Amino acid sequence: MKKKAKIERLEVCAIETAIDRTKPGPPPERETREQTRLRLLIKGEASDDDVDAVVDAEIKRRHEWDKEWCQELRERRKRLVALRRESQKNPVHLNSVQLEDLLDSEKVENCKRLRRDVYLFRNILYSVEGPYSEPEFKILIREEADRESAYFQRACGRHQECASEPLPLRRERIPERVRVAVWRRDQGRCARCGRREKLEYDHIIPVAEGGGSTARNIELLCERCNRSKGRKIT
Ligand SMILES: [Zn+2]
Repeated sequence: MKKKAKIERLEVCAIETAIDRTKPGPPPERETREQTRLRLLIKGEASDDDVDAVVDAEIKRRHEWDKEWCQELRERRKRLVALRRESQKNPVHLNSVQLEDLLDSEKVENCKRLRRDVYLFRNILYSVEGPYSEPEFKILIREEADRESAYFQRACGRHQECASEPLPLRRERIPERVRVAVWRRDQGRCARCGRREKLEYDHIIPVAEGGGSTARNIELLCERCNRSKGRKIT
């Protein structure tokens, strides 16, 4: 009967990192009023007559955006802390909001495309498949977690030297402080088209070509702009 259920360990969940990410970063470096004014004039987005009003509107938008962003961070933090607590006790079937809190948009899309149900249990993400109900999947995940932990205990017994060392966790490519700085600098919008949906952190110079994970080399792009950029390069 169990053969039809597929419980697959997806990855170690970076929930601590996700919670860290909800700390508001330092205030973004922004143009001065004068710089904004000049930019709008040079780009022809304002004329001499209306430039002051346009600058005022833009500065007001920035403040509103900061407030919105802080509020969004606070809410996300609350959700994540509750999720961390619950998932230590029981497997939690993740809804789409929780998935987006935890994973980058590429992985969320992947889960959606594969129509995968994802559960979090004790810092491990599992994907499940099979003709079972949610309570049944929760039991199957616990069994899988028990099997895995028994396996690692036995293995550690065989390799005494590793017994005291924690298992290595997968490192994230882009440090949190950089993500926060980039998000704030780009104001939560695609750097090319300004969309606010499906944003991804993109290396301007790819890592493979020596580009670093610094705020200067990373920008926010929406999925669409990121894809079209990828096509141009290849
Ligand atoms: Zn875009």
